[in-house]
Formats: sequence, C-alpha cells, structure tokens
Amino acid sequence: MGSHPGRMSKGSEGPEKSARFSTQGLRWVLSYLRPHRGVFIPSIVALTLTAGLSLAFPWFMKELFGGSVEDLRKGVDGAEVLARANRTILLLLAVLAVQAVIGFFRVQGFIRSGEAALNDLRRDVFGHLLRLPVPFFQEHRAGALSNRVAADLGIVRETLITTLPQAMRQVVILAGSLVVIFIMSWKLSLAMLGSVPLVVLAVAIAGRKVRGHAKAAQDALAESGTVIEESVQGIADVKAFTNEGFEAQRYDGALESFFRVTLRGAFARASFLAFVIFVMFGTIGAVAWLGVRMMVAGNLSETEFTGFVLFSVFVGASLGSMPEMVSQFQAMTGATERLREVMGETPENEGGEAIGDLSGALSFEQVGFRYPSRPDQRVLEGVDFAIAAGSRVALVGPSGAGKSTVFSLILGFHRPESGRVCFDGRDAATLDLRSLRKGIAVVPQEVMLFGGSILENIEYGRPGASTEEVREAARQANAHEFIEALPEGYATTVGPRGVKLSGGQRQRIAIARAILADPRILLLDEATSALDTESERLVNEALERLMQGRTSLVIAHRLSTVRHADRLLVFNHGKLVESGTHEELMEERGTYRLLAETQLA
Ligand code: ADP
Repeated sequence: MGSHPGRMSKGSEGPEKSARFSTQGLRWVLSYLRPHRGVFIPSIVALTLTAGLSLAFPWFMKELFGGSVEDLRKGVDGAEVLARANRTILLLLAVLAVQAVIGFFRVQGFIRSGEAALNDLRRDVFGHLLRLPVPFFQEHRAGALSNRVAADLGIVRETLITTLPQAMRQVVILAGSLVVIFIMSWKLSLAMLGSVPLVVLAVAIAGRKVRGHAKAAQDALAESGTVIEESVQGIADVKAFTNEGFEAQRYDGALESFFRVTLRGAFARASFLAFVIFVMFGTIGAVAWLGVRMMVAGNLSETEFTGFVLFSVFVGASLGSMPEMVSQFQAMTGATERLREVMGETPENEGGEAIGDLSGALSFEQVGFRYPSRPDQRVLEGVDFAIAAGSRVALVGPSGAGKSTVFSLILGFHRPESGRVCFDGRDAATLDLRSLRKGIAVVPQEVMLFGGSILENIEYGRPGASTEEVREAARQANAHEFIEALPEGYATTVGPRGVKLSGGQRQRIAIARAILADPRILLLDEATSALDTESERLVNEALERLMQGRTSLVIAHRLSTVRHADRLLVFNHGKLVESGTHEELMEERGTYRLLAETQLA
C-alpha cells in the first residue's frame, strides 16, 4: 500500500554526510552496465590492450635516445646506429597503428555501452518518478526536482563515459610503468616512490574538503537552474508584473551563492593541485639528478637512465591524475545517492485490487483530511455523502471550502486521514489506483493542452484510439467543426508553441478527451470566466452529452449548472454543511441561499 513519501534530502546537508566514498553508488551504476556487458567487457579488454601498448612509446623512445647515445659512446658505427633507429621507429609506428585501431573500437564501445546503460537508468528514474504519489511533487519544487535529476544524471554520465575508462587506463599504465622502472633500477624507483606518501597525505587532507565543496557547488548550481526554469515557465506573469528585475536579482543571488561555494572549494583545490604538481615534478627532477650520479658511478646505463626518466613521467602523470578522478567518483557517489533516494521513494498504490468496471457509485464516509504540507489546517472534516451511480451532483461553496480537495481524494492523489473514500462500497485504499483512475475523467477549469497536434491532445484521453474514434469524440464535444476549420485540421499543432485556442475551444477539446476516455465518473471544474453566449451554448451542449449516463461531480459556478443537478453538496470551511436540490436549499435560507444570491451568476 502506498504510504506517505519520505523526505528526499534537499541537498543542503553539510559536506560531511556525503564525504565518505561508498562503492554502493558505483555498483548501482555498474549494475546498469550488466545487460550491455557484451560490448562493455570487450571494450575493457581493448582498453587494457591500448593502455599497455601506450607503454611502447616510452620504451621505443628510450631505445632511440638512450640506446643511440650508449651505442655511440661505445663506439658503434654511425651507420649501424642509424639502421637500428630506423628499425625502432618503424616498429613504433606499427605499434601505434595497432593501438589506434583498437583504441577506435574501444572508445566506440565505451560510448555505446555507457550511453545504453545510461538510457536504461534515465528511463528507470523517470519511470519511477512518474509513479510517485502527488504529495511528493508538492513537497519538491518541480524545477528543482527536474534540475537536480538532470544534473545528477549528467554527473553519472560524465563518470561512466569519461572517468571510468580513464581510471582503468591510468591504473594499467601506472602498474606497467612501475614494473618497468623497478626492473631498470629498484633503487631509483624507491627514491621516486618516496614522494607518494606525501601525495596520498595531501589527497586525504584536501580531498575531503574538495569533495564537500563540490557537492555544495553542484547543489547551488542546480538552484540557479531552477530560477531560470521557473522564470521561463511563468514568463507571462514575470512580464505582466514587470518582475524581470526581481527574477534577474534572484538569479544573481543564486549565482552569487554558487560562486561563494565554488571559491571556498577553490582554495582547497588550488593548494592541493599546487602541492601535488610541485611534489611530482620535484620528484622527477630529483630522480634525474640521482640518476646522473648513478650513471657517473657506472651503476646505470644511458639507456636505462633515459628509460627511467621517461617512465617516471608516465608514473607521475598517472599518479597526478588520480585525485581528480577520485573526486569525480565521489561526485558520482553524491549524485547516485540522490538518484537512489528518488528511486527509493514509495510509489503509489499500484498493487491493490484491480477494480474492474466501476458502476459509478461513490461515497465519502466521515472523511477528514489535512495536507501534509500544512498539518495544522483541517481541510476536510467529517465529510459524509453517497452518490448513486449515474447521478449528477454539484459541489458549491466559497473558495477554499475544500471542493477541489474532494476531487483530489476521489482521484487518489491523497489519502484521507480519517474515514474512507469508497467506490461501489469498496475502500479506495485497497484498490489499484491506476485501474481506479481509468474509470474517472477530469475536465479541469483551465485546460492545459500540451505541445502536439489536436489529434494527439484528444487521443490523450485514451492512447491508441483510432482517428475515427477521436473524430467522433470531437463531434460529440462540438469541437469537430472548429477543428476542421483550422489550417491543418486535426494535425494543427496546439500547446505552448502552437495555435492558440480560445477558452471555449480548449474546454471542448478537454470534453472530447473525456468522451474518448469514456469514464464512469466525471469530475468537472466549471470555468469561472464567462464565455460568450454561443460558445457557452456549445460547451453546455457538449457537457450535457458527456454527462449522459455517467456519475458526474461538478464544482459549480453557474446557476444553470446547479439547477440541473440532481443534488447539491454545499461546503464551507471543510465541512459539508447542506445537501439537497436547488429548490430545497433555497427554502432553507442557509449558506446556499446566501451563496446563490451573491456568487452564482
Ligand atoms: P476550493 O476548491 O473549495 O476552493 P480547496 O480544496 O482548493 O478549496 O482548498 C481547501 C483548503 O486547502 C484551502 O484552505 C487551501 O488553501 C488548502 N489547500 C489546497 N491545496 C493545498 C495544498 N496542496 N497544500 C496545502 N494546502 C492546500
């Protein structure tokens, strides 16, 4: 059974919490690679090969430089030295060519398997998000949520496609180089590795700080993204209230705090990098100096010496790249933590009993409710009513009385705190929400059309419906004629970037959608804004057809609507205060009469 969602961390916790490096996140991401191991594992093999082959470069260089110098010193004939150099360079080119070919495939393989795994991950995260209960989305600002998920997926991608292969490559190169230098001169090798503890210490001290700041910076950046998203979404309001300056300031504020956090991290990062670079190159210099001494003493040949220096550079570069990679893995740990938090949220009740066909009868039994975000306010209290299948009920009451909340409870967006919502006498809490919602359709007050054709917008009521079914629904909704008159008919694009439709037209599209859905229960939120008479007539006619033979609940704002209702439910301050027909309630001279006289047009 669905429960109230847990809290997802809002990203403001201190650096300590995420500073630990856990392999759980990595393992979770790797589990997505498993299905693509057919490509991934060969890529790893190829990677190991190319990494190993890249050691050929210093090896041949050592032969060219050190070997030639050594030969010349020993008095070998110049022509022979040249001939050897020729052979060496040809061999090197051949190795490089092999490396390039394998490298080509391994890069492709990593991208292919990585992106495929990522797509699975993206699908899973979005799929899970879609199934989370409504309160989850009310607790998290939409912009913040989508930005965070996008940013976190971005980090995972960067790690998987770039850092992971790079790390593997560096480990192979490091191991190979170490073996080579130890064989050449273990004494020099030990001298060189003497600096490693210093670097490790620096990683331990600075890494922790850098990591914490990196996550805080990530959060701050996501926050600024949210500002952009919210402004763009509400651009009409921003402009109408001439709040461009305010939004710009809000963005500025977010950027400022991002900058502050980044700068705090920058100190740790800069001192760390400066230190590591100094130690690294200092060590290589010192080793070269030691090498010269050994060479003079006759303990090291020119070839070995050159080789040693070249491979030391490789060792140093590998070691130097490690902290950056470790911090990237840590960033990924943070990102996966949050993604897994989303994945860990309990989805809505989908395991309940499938309801089958609803008859349309529904009842509220002593329902009490508070929004989780405002636990001090009782929004519904002891609401008790039963609606027979096929009847027409109007909900009336002042704004804020709780009418929309009744709709939310019927749709299962929220669960009652006390009492029960029942369909055909069965407690909704035990029913499968999806199958329940299939029997319900909503015609909202402000109809949102999404980007796409009119056909698709109507088809949304029942995906997979045939074009003929869509047209028939539009006909019944009095929408067919105006749609046909549009430049591209049913293919006309509407929504944010398409043709603008009038309020009445949008409503008729929504009605067509509902007709197509063919629900047993209809929830109508009547538009408060007046339509012109003709438009009103067309909408009412369409609604009339839609409500025929179905249970309908209408949040009513018009006198004509309440007059046609079988029964009125009058709400005030979260309580059902009166119930009866329009005539009966007018007689009563109570809340309804007052409302009817002042508010219903
Ligand atoms: P009506 O539809 O009758 O105007 P509503 O059901 O929308 O009333 O609201 C009833 C009360 O619940 C109001 O006081 C409103 O402020 C509050 N409310 C509505 N939605 C939420 C929400 N998501 N979170 C917290 N309070 C809410």
